[in-house]
Amino acid sequence: MRDAIVGIDLGTTNSLVAWCDESGPRVLADADGVRMLPSAVRFVRGHAPVVGHVARRDAHLHRADTVLGAKRLMGRGHAEARSAAPELAPWIVEGVRGLAAFSVAGRALLPQEVGAEVLRRLRAIAERALGRRVARAVITVPAYFDDGQREATRDAARLAGLEPVRIINEPTAAALAYGLGLRGRAETVAVYDFGGGTFDVSILDISAEGDDVVRVISTAGDTHLGGDDIDAAVAGHLAARIVADGHGLDAASSAWRQALLDAAEGAKVALSERASASVDLALPDGTSWSASLTRADFETIIGPLVARTVACCRTALADAGHPQVERVVMVGGSTRIPLVRRAAAEAFRAEVYTAVDPDETVALGAAVQASLLEGRRSDILLLDVIPLSLGIETVGGAVAKILMRNQSIPARATEMFSTSVDGQVSISIHVLQGEREMVADCRSLARFEFRGIPPMPAGIPQIEVEFLVDANGILTVSARERRSGVNASVQVVPTWGLTREEIAGMERDALTHAREDMHRHRIADLCAHAALDLKWIGEALARVRDALDPAYVSDLESRAGAVAAMVEQGRGDAASCDADAFQRAKEELDRFSMPLHEASITRTLREHACEGPQVTVSGKAVRGTAEGT
Ligand code: ADP
Ligand code: MG
Repeated sequence: MRDAIVGIDLGTTNSLVAWCDESGPRVLADADGVRMLPSAVRFVRGHAPVVGHVARRDAHLHRADTVLGAKRLMGRGHAEARSAAPELAPWIVEGVRGLAAFSVAGRALLPQEVGAEVLRRLRAIAERALGRRVARAVITVPAYFDDGQREATRDAARLAGLEPVRIINEPTAAALAYGLGLRGRAETVAVYDFGGGTFDVSILDISAEGDDVVRVISTAGDTHLGGDDIDAAVAGHLAARIVADGHGLDAASSAWRQALLDAAEGAKVALSERASASVDLALPDGTSWSASLTRADFETIIGPLVARTVACCRTALADAGHPQVERVVMVGGSTRIPLVRRAAAEAFRAEVYTAVDPDETVALGAAVQASLLEGRRSDILLLDVIPLSLGIETVGGAVAKILMRNQSIPARATEMFSTSVDGQVSISIHVLQGEREMVADCRSLARFEFRGIPPMPAGIPQIEVEFLVDANGILTVSARERRSGVNASVQVVPTWGLTREEIAGMERDALTHAREDMHRHRIADLCAHAALDLKWIGEALARVRDALDPAYVSDLESRAGAVAAMVEQGRGDAASCDADAFQRAKEELDRFSMPLHEASITRTLREHACEGPQVTVSGKAVRGTAEGT
């Protein structure tokens, strides 16, 4: 077998290696399952260097011998190095040919030698994961890298035993990760890359034909603006609050400073998911301090940093001649911050793409480029129809299909859902792909918690779930509660991770199991709707039993008991259930409970309507509020 060409994102903060086969690109993990390798190298006299996580973690203990951010000096002259990376000044010395070098462990090392250590490690990770020799790579660099910086990156690869078959721009790779430019669609996109230490924005022209389908038309950015600055800003805010609480701080202690920065980063990451985060710190004076930070506070603190990225976006747009941008591809860990997503969408007045893990986008795109060079392009990225049906999980583990297989792209469909429990204020939306009727037999694509539904009785909230697959094949699932307008959404690339054979296999399975699957789905729906009916009957009886004929009540209770037994049986062993009999019993119970309905309405009209309890319950969606209940 010919050796593989891998894709490598050699980052300032983190580096990754990825591989693309016919099921699409994926990042390769090390023996511990970790996919991101910190671009940190500690040089130890007389020993092999320490690369990655351990070097990053212990950097403050071995600061003199640890190189962080070698990429900043890649291919730069000694004279310009200090202004390019003032924070690296203590390590910078003049190397060969007037180049900037790092002075560590008694040696002067060029940035390409440091980069080579990171690449060597990535190469080993790839060889282990793929089980074969890896000697060629596509490596990404920032769009603004000049020839010298690109050549230095090539040198780093060669030193690591990798032939750099192509050096591509990071924004180009990000676009390829979304399959942009591969479907023959022409469009203008922006790539907004907000990483750990740098911010880059590029405007790309994606043309329908030609060899180089992706062309960078303008770039702007700030080489000293990133997640690290966000951490520092949050740390500053925390330090001020600690002092305000009457504690003394040891500004000189680097270990303490690091602890504060770690706490700040932890809070930052938590706030990308939640509305508030708690911070717990052991203070240098021996006491402990805890506080909470809200997302609103956080957004105020980082507002000025985000505004700087927006200013760069304006520059890039102006330099490109103010084109209409159709999409913004979001890259870099800092784009997980909701404020950052909103700011990017506003700056370009365009929708943001967040389906691909922002840490991995560049590496995945490099792998797509590698597979194109090998002539092994992944058809999966290029399908112009939806390869497998898409839907969401409903009560009882059934799948409500929303977009059907073989529909052509772009496609859109909506369906109404509701809650299954009184006062339920959130539903968990589980997006699935596949032809089978039950969740267990389909493939899970994404999950998100739809929160903020106003408390109402079960079945009353009207939750509109929309599935939209755009012209690039990217799926956006959004949910909106009609009365309150609350909404949430998630994005996924629905076609990744499956080969053509796997898709064919799933289709065959669906045919084989069609009958039994339909049966299970029908039973699950019947159970869900009957359970809601039974619950309502129980509650209504408790209220108006006294207004009804006792003989009617006992007849109703025995019929309800029979349906409850069917629900029980359906949930335990759907296969043994007679769906037609179940359906008939449920319908008869519906008819038979009419007098109860009437009594209940009469009572309600007399009294005042009372509110349901305000409790938080998480449950599944119930399909089609109009039918059945
Ligand atoms: P680089 O391209 O510079 O190597 P990355 O793209 O790996 O950097 O981004 C790393 C940055 O992303 C770090 O500052 C990290 O704290 C930040 N980050 C990672 N996850 C989150 C998150 N969930 N919310 C906010 N920031 C995050
Ligand atoms: Mg990056």
